[in-house]
Amino acid sequence: MTSIPLVDLGWQHAQVADDVATGWAEVLARTAFVGGPAVSRFEAEYAAYLGVEHCVGVANGTDAIELALRAVGVGPGDECVVPANTFIATAEAVARTGATTVLVDCRPDDALIDVDAAAAALTPRTKAVLPVHLYGQMVDVAGLAARLPEGVAIVEDAAQSQGARRDGITAGAAGTIAATSFYPGKNLGAYGDAGAVMTDDAELAAAVRLLGAHGSERKYVHDTLGFNSRLDALQAVVLSVKLRRLDAWNEERRAAAKRYEALLSGVEQVTLPVVADGSEPVWHLYVVQVDRRDEVLAELNAGGIGAGIHYPTPVHLTGAFAGLGQGKGAFPVSEAMGERILSLPLYPGITAEQQERVAEALTAAVTR
Ligand SMILES: *Cc1c(COP(=O)(O)O)cnc(C)c1O
Repeated sequence: MTSIPLVDLGWQHAQVADDVATGWAEVLARTAFVGGPAVSRFEAEYAAYLGVEHCVGVANGTDAIELALRAVGVGPGDECVVPANTFIATAEAVARTGATTVLVDCRPDDALIDVDAAAAALTPRTKAVLPVHLYGQMVDVAGLAARLPEGVAIVEDAAQSQGARRDGITAGAAGTIAATSFYPGKNLGAYGDAGAVMTDDAELAAAVRLLGAHGSERKYVHDTLGFNSRLDALQAVVLSVKLRRLDAWNEERRAAAKRYEALLSGVEQVTLPVVADGSEPVWHLYVVQVDRRDEVLAELNAGGIGAGIHYPTPVHLTGAFAGLGQGKGAFPVSEAMGERILSLPLYPGITAEQQERVAEALTAAVTR
């Protein structure tokens, strides 16, 4: 039996191969590889897609978060509130600015940052809160904003939520500034590393652009200490081509999520993802919860099903953040989830037969 991958980028490539080849030929002919018209075009298209004023292409999603934080003025002595249940890049970006990472627990239902816990973690030093729209589902940013004093920025981590909405607001257009990643496996994925920062604020956008270009607005004039984080033209071409299909591909993900729900809702050993009222997720990942997760995962993998875990270790229990001094027990919800979560294969192009096979294998594994 053929195996079922966790994600299938080949299916996407087959849809866009001709358009990418045409666009790449233009870039090669023009030899404008970093920045240039292809990058400006994508930046304008993505800003319009989200409904924000400015989009600045950068080298990857982690840089995007760091640049967004630096643009709002985060640095040494500041505190930033981050969910313990996220990909490590969110916390890493905070640490790289020199600010202190203040972790908070997640909600037991949708696994997103617990807004009450975030509000409780505020101190006079808090400069930013980073809601992570995990698994393709948006945090209640309006609810979060209502709990924050003036001067605390909302820096969205929108890496997993391209196209997601909640109460009519689009992920990446809800906070002070937002960062996203176009890592190949994201809903909108490049053919290598890429990312972007989005904001309605022209000054913040200019600050991001300045910092990502060696602190230089004019060639060889460096009044600010910056670094190098720019979007390549070849990646921008891929992103422009794929952006035209993003809504259709997200619809495919939604249909696949519905199908899993139908296939698995009768299996009491499987806890299905919870979606808040008013939330329109884009299912970057389809994460269920099961007991004996490691055994179930091993059984699925042995049967050729590319299930995975996102993420097995909450940030505070990683070696990188051991310095925070928060051991086991600090964030019980994130820790408990870390032991039960299981990501099932879900991608545009997944077939009903593939999903039926996944559901069958999962049902067999959890009822053993
Ligand atoms: C992918 C991801 C990032 C980092 O993006 P890179 O492009 O890999 O640097 C940050 N946050 C979350 C939630 C992600 O999923």
